[in-house]
Amino acid sequence: MEIYLHNTLTRQKEKFIPIRDNEVKMYHCGPTIYDHPHIGNLRTLIFGDILRRVFEFNNFKVIQVMNLTDVDDKTIKNSQKEGVSLYDFTYKYEKIFRDNMEELNIKTPHHMPRATEYIDEIIIMIEKMLENEIAYKSDDGIYFSIEKSEGYGVLAQLKIDHSEKATSEDEYDKENAHDFALWKFTKPEDGENVWVAPFGDGRPGWHIECSAMSLKILGETFDIHTGGEDLIFPHHTNEIAQSEAVTHKHFVNYWMHAAFMNASGEKMSKSKGNFSTLETIKEGGLSPLDFRYLMLTAHYKTKLEFSNDSLVASAQARKKINRAIAEFPDFGSVQKDLLNIFIEMINDDLNMPEAMALAWKILKDENILEADKKATILEFDKVFGLKLGEIDQVEIPQKVYALVDAREVARNEKDWEEADRYRDEIQQEGFIVKDTANGPQILPL
Ligand code: AMP
Ligand code: ZN
Repeated sequence: MEIYLHNTLTRQKEKFIPIRDNEVKMYHCGPTIYDHPHIGNLRTLIFGDILRRVFEFNNFKVIQVMNLTDVDDKTIKNSQKEGVSLYDFTYKYEKIFRDNMEELNIKTPHHMPRATEYIDEIIIMIEKMLENEIAYKSDDGIYFSIEKSEGYGVLAQLKIDHSEKATSEDEYDKENAHDFALWKFTKPEDGENVWVAPFGDGRPGWHIECSAMSLKILGETFDIHTGGEDLIFPHHTNEIAQSEAVTHKHFVNYWMHAAFMNASGEKMSKSKGNFSTLETIKEGGLSPLDFRYLMLTAHYKTKLEFSNDSLVASAQARKKINRAIAEFPDFGSVQKDLLNIFIEMINDDLNMPEAMALAWKILKDENILEADKKATILEFDKVFGLKLGEIDQVEIPQKVYALVDAREVARNEKDWEEADRYRDEIQQEGFIVKDTANGPQILPL
């Protein structure tokens, strides 16, 4: 079936045509590993995971790359604050990040390159740009000349004013484009974070890192490149300019951007302090999968205002569908007509809210056998990634075991009143007992 995706390059939903039949190569701008990711970052990552799952559901071979930005202004500054090497510092946050991914049931990308492992490729690209004179040397680094770049700013639909000065900052929120740093010559505050290069020792700028990693792993032209909407300019705009300046080929066919997660009406960000992490969600007694569920309730291109109430509502909904699936009998069959409707929805630029609504409709439909509901919704869950039917592991308190034992004794004595009283008490502790052929089974409420 055909897949339609919104392409930022044309600002339109387009039919996806892969470079190679039934294969898709995609690159996601991954996290800067200098702190715990906030849940806005995680929204964008879940979007990447859903994109991969949709292609896999359509039987595509997927080659997925997500980089780890382990050298930039922020990682260097924060590692120095902690007084540890850049490697030790970023390794710690990479570990936290990978744990977050696992808890969110985000599939591990096939490649997760770290920028510091691609310095040779970065240097070769910069040398080529110096040769072509699209890059120039200044006092503090090597810069990219946007004036010499054909079509600079198309992705961001920029109007270019060439009077703007050069900037060595990786991120800038100005209206106008600047010449940007490809390489920053060593400054005393860089400490030991220095790489030798023929044009002068230093370290890479942020934008060139993603160009080098994606070109090396996926080739000169590949299918899809994604990130949060803040990356359209300058990061992705600059990636296109550098990559095409080196290869003289069209860099990427489809650019996709996830809308921001807001909190208190503003973009969630570390600098504004209006952020939550997966750790804060867990401390509040909720599951990372509740957060994943919440992300599925909004289209990836819709701004999402995060609130604890919406997360709690998602937790309740997930619990309900999870429990229903767990309790329905096995061995049903996937309903083909419903599956086709589902595929049409997810292939329509990943319309997950509609697909989720379809799952609920099926759940409530009295004309479908429970076993068939289960089989069909579990098939959908290959894309949702909610681990439906797997009841969350919660620790069962000793007291609950004691109550269940006491209830068994009462049942053996056929004292049903007493047994029911224990059942109520168990419920008050947040658990239910199910009587099975293998004895009582304790489930969280
Ligand atoms: P960073 O760690 O800042 O490099 O960001 C990692 C990814 O998260 C990038 O794709 C960003 O575009 C994305 N991102 C950052 N802030 C938000 C937000 N508030 N909502 C959604 N995505 C975000
Ligand atoms: Zn990037």
